[in-house]
Amino acid sequence: MNPNPFIYGLLPEELEVFCKEHGQPAFRAKQVYDWLYGKLVSSFDEMKNLPADLRELLSEHFSFQTLEKLEVSGEPGETQKLLFKLSDSEMIETVIIPAPRRGTNTVCISSQVGCVFGCAFCASGQKGVIRNLTAGEMVGQVMEVGRELGERPNNVVFMGIGEPFDNYSEVMKAIRILNHPDGLNIGARKITVSTCGVVPGIERYAEEGLQVELSVSLHAPDSETRSQIMPVNETWPLDELMDACAAYTEKTNRIITFEYTLIKDLNDSLGQAHELVKLLRRFPCRVNLIPLSPVEEFEGERPDRETMQTFFQALEKAHINTTLRDSKGSNLKAACGQLRSRRINEVF
Ligand code: SAH
Repeated sequence: MNPNPFIYGLLPEELEVFCKEHGQPAFRAKQVYDWLYGKLVSSFDEMKNLPADLRELLSEHFSFQTLEKLEVSGEPGETQKLLFKLSDSEMIETVIIPAPRRGTNTVCISSQVGCVFGCAFCASGQKGVIRNLTAGEMVGQVMEVGRELGERPNNVVFMGIGEPFDNYSEVMKAIRILNHPDGLNIGARKITVSTCGVVPGIERYAEEGLQVELSVSLHAPDSETRSQIMPVNETWPLDELMDACAAYTEKTNRIITFEYTLIKDLNDSLGQAHELVKLLRRFPCRVNLIPLSPVEEFEGERPDRETMQTFFQALEKAHINTTLRDSKGSNLKAACGQLRSRRINEVF
């Protein structure tokens, strides 16, 4: 285990301070950043235009080896899932979602090891939360994907394992590093944070003054159904959540995407589609319908295609911008947290 902090966790200004403190000119920080994010190197030795003493200094204080790739599932060019081992042997998952027609690559990253919120259908939180990831471990996932693809990813979504707003400051730091013009320079609008409905997080996010995107996992049009599958609804019930979403929309002028995982006979009826329309009528938004990816720990099933289409059309008819996504990961056992969950079950 390498105890040094991960190099990907530093903002350029922090790297500048480090250089100055060690008697190096500040412009070296920019050079280091360029090697990290422009040239995607994976060691300090490759930073050829740096003096040897600075390279040594960096390797004494920071590390590169924090994510060890254990497993890749899926074929290159299609959705792929990576399982990483962290320096303390914990595991996380990262997903690559290419869209060749649009020429983009989206990376779905984890923000925590495990999750405290325990949504019934989600494999990530079945054993609680173990720890937060550092900003460096989050940026590191994007960099590993960059190296896997041989190019920089263009979109980042915080939809892997964990609840980003339960690890707020490190997530925001990771966003600032990913967004930095001297680094990967991923546009704020290409970065999406997804929350299960942590109201204080939504309120804080509204004040950041960044053009980042927000997704909210809704999964039910009424509080009772939502509580059945999402314990977070007991802490921040649906009406409080919707008030926070309305305030966010007003403050930022940004459009929230609501995630709605369709589960057979639980939240997929036409009546529930109409209720959802009523709920969302008060401000502009988008809806992403996701067919449930079956997970071992949950008995629910995916609705049939026709039921999902009917639900989709009801929203469309009400002029809500809606997509019906295929959860491509499901045949890979790659939906949220499943690779990690399987490994843990093998071990214990
Ligand atoms: N904690 C955050 C981000 C992680 S989950 C959140 O809850 O938004 C990303 C999305 O995948 C969420 O909308 C989550 O509810 C959904 N999801 C989790 N498990 C799923 C499954 N088995 N099938 C379909 N969607 C799932």
